[in-house]
Order: sequence, then structure tokens, then C-alpha cells
Amino acid sequence: MHERRAKEICYGLSDNLEPFISVFHISQDMTESADCIFCKIVKGEIPASVIFEDDLCMAFMDIFPVNAGHCLLIPKAHYVNMFDVDLETVAHLAKKLAVLTRSINLAIGKGGVINVVANGEEAGQEVPHLHFHAIPRQSGDPFGFKFPPGYRDQMAPREELDQFAERIRNAI
Ligand code: AMP
Ligand code: ZN
Repeated sequence: MHERRAKEICYGLSDNLEPFISVFHISQDMTESADCIFCKIVKGEIPASVIFEDDLCMAFMDIFPVNAGHCLLIPKAHYVNMFDVDLETVAHLAKKLAVLTRSINLAIGKGGVINVVANGEEAGQEVPHLHFHAIPRQSGDPFGFKFPPGYRDQMAPREELDQFAERIRNAI
């Protein structure tokens, strides 16, 4: 079992249907799923507003929507994120994410839908079970990415971009 500990924040409903938030610690590279909130949704142990599911994946409504219509797509198997997910599974998820995104656009129709996935706590991942967000967007809504001040003042030097491309290519 890996030494590094990750914080897991779970949201759910208590017996009297009051929302609760609990914070506990799990191992970042755990393969078992006993304490995972999304595994509990897959097993039907806690409620979810399910949009669709098949053998490999499930789409349901986010319990704290950033904007109305905010959905999540998860694999049914417990993968932590894109670092460990099986490539066949993620190929299937990509197709289903496109279906989900188009359906949100048709049903909610605010003008745009953003897909986001956080990989690792440092990237903002709170629930350590792979999930893709699909969030309706419209111009002027309060949700958005925070960019560093002046980030577009200058393009990156080509040499630096080529070096990064080479480093990443070598890691494939
Ligand atoms: P992230 O910060 O990318 O890990 O996002 C985790 C998302 O899971 C958040 O948007 C939460 O609102 C959502 N979430 C957590 N628990 C539940 C739950 N029981 N049902 C639906 N969505 C949940
Ligand atoms: Zn899980």
C-alpha cells in the first residue's frame, strides 16, 4: 500500500435525507472501493439521479451543480483517474461523454457545454474515482477557469515548446 495519503471528500444524504459532507483519508493508489462514494452509487448503496448506464459506465447528475444540468460520467470499475484507467475503458467513456455532452446541449441548450476531468489532488480532484464533468455554460455565467494575470502577453518561445513536446513524447 502506497505511503502517500489523499483526502477524500464525500457528499451524500444521511438517513433523514439531510445532505452531509464527510472528510476522511484513503490511500491514493487504492484498488479496493469499499469507501468510495462513486462505487457506492454504482452499487446502488446511495441515491443518484442516473441519466444512463451500461456495463462499463454510468452518467448521473452532480449533487452540487456548478450550473444547472451539471452531469458526471464515471467508469463502473474503480479507477482513480486518467493515470491508471484501462485504455479500453477510457475509449468507451470518450464515446459516452460525447453522447452525454450532445444530450445536455439539446436538453439544456444554454449555448455551450464544458468537459473537465481533474487528475490528482493537485489538479483539484476531490473524489478519487475517475469522473468526467459535463457542465452547461453560457457567456457571463459565474463559472470559469482562473488564468494567471498577463498570461497572453507573450507567446511561449518555440524552442521551449519543442522541448516540452520532446519530454512528453519520450514519456509515451
Ligand atoms: P472533483 O472536484 O473533480 O473531484 O469533483 C467531484 C464532484 O463530485 C463534485 O462536483 C461533487 O459535487 C460531486 N459529487 C460528490 N459526491 C456526489 C454524490 N453523492 N452525487 C453526485 N455528485 C457528487
Ligand atoms: Zn470508486
